[in-house]
Amino acid sequence: MTKIIDKSNLSDAALCLKNGGTVVFPTETVYGLGADALKEESVDKIYAAKGRPSDNPLIIHIADKEDIKNIALEITDDAQKLIDAFWPGPLTMIFKKRPEINNKVTANLNTVAVRCPVNEIARELIRQSGVYVAAPSANLSGSPSPTTLKHVVDDLDGRVDYIIDGTGCEIGIESTVLDVSGDEFKILRPGKITFDDIKKVTERIKNDYIDIKNVKTAQCPGMKYTHYSPKAKVIVVEGDIDKTKSYIQEKLDSKKDTTGVIAYKNSNFENSDFTVCFSDMNEYAAMLYETLRIFDEKNVKTIYAQFKEESGIGVAVKNRIYKSAGYDVINL
Ligand code: AMP
Ligand code: MG
Repeated sequence: MTKIIDKSNLSDAALCLKNGGTVVFPTETVYGLGADALKEESVDKIYAAKGRPSDNPLIIHIADKEDIKNIALEITDDAQKLIDAFWPGPLTMIFKKRPEINNKVTANLNTVAVRCPVNEIARELIRQSGVYVAAPSANLSGSPSPTTLKHVVDDLDGRVDYIIDGTGCEIGIESTVLDVSGDEFKILRPGKITFDDIKKVTERIKNDYIDIKNVKTAQCPGMKYTHYSPKAKVIVVEGDIDKTKSYIQEKLDSKKDTTGVIAYKNSNFENSDFTVCFSDMNEYAAMLYETLRIFDEKNVKTIYAQFKEESGIGVAVKNRIYKSAGYDVINL
């Protein structure tokens, strides 16, 4: 049975992690489903609870950034500069792994993903458990990541030992994943920490993330799987605000089933069953998964997501809605 607790009972959950169990906890990005990263049987429980393919590696969460030296084989000066600049925070870095890091957590890669979250509940839990915590997003594999307790309970009640009710998840989308294991640093997944943020710290990053439609050879192991998808069909309508607005309005005028619109800025739509407006990219990121889940609850069958090319965190929002839509994108 899953126990739902609040932060006043962290010691029970920490003991559970130490003893090989699974605990869902809030972070500043999304909720994470944690287990002892160095115990294969514990890591297996994460894959089982999520129904996640075992060739999609996990991120190891640490409470103290000094612990990175026990996980990474080598930390270059530039990687250290990034650690100093962004940890604790929503930046995951990929390092060559030390031999004692098991293959389950890295899905047989010789690299390992590590992050030090800033959320105090997450850090205190990890600290008290005394273990490094492997933690993917706490959703069933393929669904939108959870940003509220309700999302976690809907997906994982009965499948994990503890769920910690916590505020947080203010960013709303997963961490930036940056590969620092090679000569040139590469963004594998865009997030709140942007290319420009990283570039200010090190010149070893050359290019921003580019979404490639129908990526055949995944550079990042998780890339080949369906991600962030609600039950409803999502269609991204991207381009000039007026053009995308008229396109969506035409579709609404001839719609046959329950239809939702994610509108960028204050666009008014007629005949939409549900419309959610975001005024900027931070808000779009923070509310995207929640909106997709609410639309599913309302039995929405088709979602039009209006989008305009943006830089900064907009690169990450684009990445997530493209994936939610299975790359079904209308460019206007
Ligand atoms: P999630 O924890 O669900 O947000 O997913 C973690 C993501 O981090 C995975 O889907 C991978 O894309 C990425 N990742 C984890 N470990 C590695 C690694 N060693 N090399 C490249 N990407 C990784
Ligand atoms: Mg995930």
